Amino acid sequence: MRLFLWLVLQSLIQPIAAQKNPPPVIDMHFHALHADEQGPPPISVGAPFRDLGINDPKDDYRKTFDNALKTNSWADQFIRSPTTDDSLRLLNFSALKQNNVYAVTSGDIELVRKWKQAMPNRIINSIDWDFNMAAKRGLTVDSLETLFRSGEFKVFGEITIQYEGYSPSDSAFEPYLAMAERLDIPMGIHVGCGPPGAPYIGSTKYRARLHSALVLEDALLRHPKLRVYAMHAGWPMLDDMLATLYTHPQLYVDLGAICYFIPRKEFYFYLERLVNAGFGKRIMFGSDNMVWPQAIQQGIQSIHKADFLTMSQKRDILFNNAARFLRLTKKEIEAMQ
Ligand SMILES: [Zn+2]
Repeated sequence: MRLFLWLVLQSLIQPIAAQKNPPPVIDMHFHALHADEQGPPPISVGAPFRDLGINDPKDDYRKTFDNALKTNSWADQFIRSPTTDDSLRLLNFSALKQNNVYAVTSGDIELVRKWKQAMPNRIINSIDWDFNMAAKRGLTVDSLETLFRSGEFKVFGEITIQYEGYSPSDSAFEPYLAMAERLDIPMGIHVGCGPPGAPYIGSTKYRARLHSALVLEDALLRHPKLRVYAMHAGWPMLDDMLATLYTHPQLYVDLGAICYFIPRKEFYFYLERLVNAGFGKRIMFGSDNMVWPQAIQQGIQSIHKADFLTMSQKRDILFNNAARFLRLTKKEIEAMQ
């Protein structure tokens, strides 16, 4: 009888327990993409990679790279992309839901709109941008201003001009910085890693020196009211990142991609240094999930498993810092629990 009662009690309690959400997470770096936007699916990525970018110069690096992804020869663990747009979207949605994630989402504007419509409470609309996209999609300062003023789009990023060989402090980018500052739109700028060997697989103007967060310095000084975060936390140029964070107290970073794809020991070394140096309140979680929905959970787990972080430091990285940076209201935060 006692056992029966216990079973009944358990059956009453469990569904309630199962429904309970894990604490909320804000993903500052999430992409709405088509399944083939990183090449013909399925594509694998190391989660994390063990080795990065090995090539004999007599060989075509693009082939080496593609082959390494196909055979997972650089990774002990990997994740594989879904093959259709629908499966990618649905798996992303279920990863957001399961991990209680609210995601700053960029991509083709129509696709972001579609995802927002399907999951209005978890998608925070963002606009990705570089000079090439601006030309292709007509995203001039004026048209961007209309999109931001309408309130439909909340964040300006990912800004990927690093791939085009531009520093964010370049005069060609100046009008966009001025617009974001004037409208008080938070801005996420890619400063750090693309794929290993980027100039040899299509991004011919990508340069290692643009990984340095020092590229932000003039832009920050010219626009002191701008809310800006360095996506990928300027990895691997740690000293430059620390110096820039130290000198510019308004700057935040996100952990996009480095939280799941670079060798884990290196990620922890980098993250621990950022925290030890006193910047734990300005580090935000970002998955940089492109076509790999599992990257969301992998990234979150990497924070949970970081034994050098306290519980409250983990909560800062996963939620509190982004809520402060985005200036979420108490009401908005309550709605996210
Ligand atoms: Zn990026």
